[in-house]
Amino acid sequence: MKRALITGITGQDGRHMSEFLTGKGYQVFGLVRGQANPKAKLVLDENPALELVEGDLRDLSSLIAAVEQVQPDEVYNLGAMSFVALSFRQPELTADITGLGVLRMLEAIRIVGGTEHNPVRFYQASSSEMFGKVRETPQHEGTAFHPRSPYGVAKVFGHHMTINYRESYNLHASSGICFNHEGPRRGLEFVTRKITNGIARIKLGLQDSITLGNLDAARDWGFAGDFVEAMWSMLQQDEPDDFVIATGETHTVKELLDVAFQCAGYDDWERFVRQDPRFERPADVELLMGDASKANAKLGWKPKVAFDELVSMMYESDLIEETKKAELER
Ligand code: GDP
Repeated sequence: MKRALITGITGQDGRHMSEFLTGKGYQVFGLVRGQANPKAKLVLDENPALELVEGDLRDLSSLIAAVEQVQPDEVYNLGAMSFVALSFRQPELTADITGLGVLRMLEAIRIVGGTEHNPVRFYQASSSEMFGKVRETPQHEGTAFHPRSPYGVAKVFGHHMTINYRESYNLHASSGICFNHEGPRRGLEFVTRKITNGIARIKLGLQDSITLGNLDAARDWGFAGDFVEAMWSMLQQDEPDDFVIATGETHTVKELLDVAFQCAGYDDWERFVRQDPRFERPADVELLMGDASKANAKLGWKPKVAFDELVSMMYESDLIEETKKAELER
């Protein structure tokens, strides 16, 4: 039975990865910060086969202890401070968790596993935010980085560290440069979920508008459930490498609003949307669109869920969840 250690187990990707690997017959361990993590119960209810291990990406000795205890075949580093807007307000914390956290995890693997023929395989969750102010469209593995936020800068550090450990210590370390990936488990602070949840609440008469920032930003939005398959597949290759994971389609926030409001039967989204500079960023990424042809050729990966289906899946799930909550409160 293969053993996998996942950081960021309570996040969207960690939860998808935990289910996916358990389905593949892995014994799955998730790293959590301390005993009182309120989301620990949720992830255990979702996947009773999961085992939790204590550790923090800010603390090297806790990572060494976790790797020693789990003896993993594969480590998926999905943990990060992942919200771009917050990274501007807490840049140092972001650098520590999202950037240095990668280095600490790599060090823990190097120290526990030894440097010669280290059998532990490592996956780093790199990000399309590294492309930032994009140099070309679509973006591919060779596109130069120009990060536009403390989050993006921290991810560039983690990305290069992963390559550095591959080259220096012969570690099987791969990076997935993942474009935005969403789903019903996305945090409410991200624009997709903020919109689908807001519309569900409008539909139920629980709120009357949604307040947003930059509506012209364009993103390549895919389904998180598809993306974890690509991550796993990278670690099954003989050689470690870097791969762009994306749908190849881009949509603006306005297009997202259009599609999402239509799911609820409204064709006039402008009526429900307010704008507030509070939700704008000091610098934004205007357009992302990924070219995943390398992942397609080498991993045989392609996304299964289309943009409209993704938005509709998220809206339907929010409608069910908000209806349940409203009934409980009544
Ligand atoms: P990101 O691509 O990782 O930053 O994912 P987000 O979902 O947080 O943001 C995607 C885009 O939507 C960015 O360009 C934001 O500026 C834009 N956006 C516009 N209004 C909002 C909002 O109210 N919240 C968030 N999170 N993003 C917004």
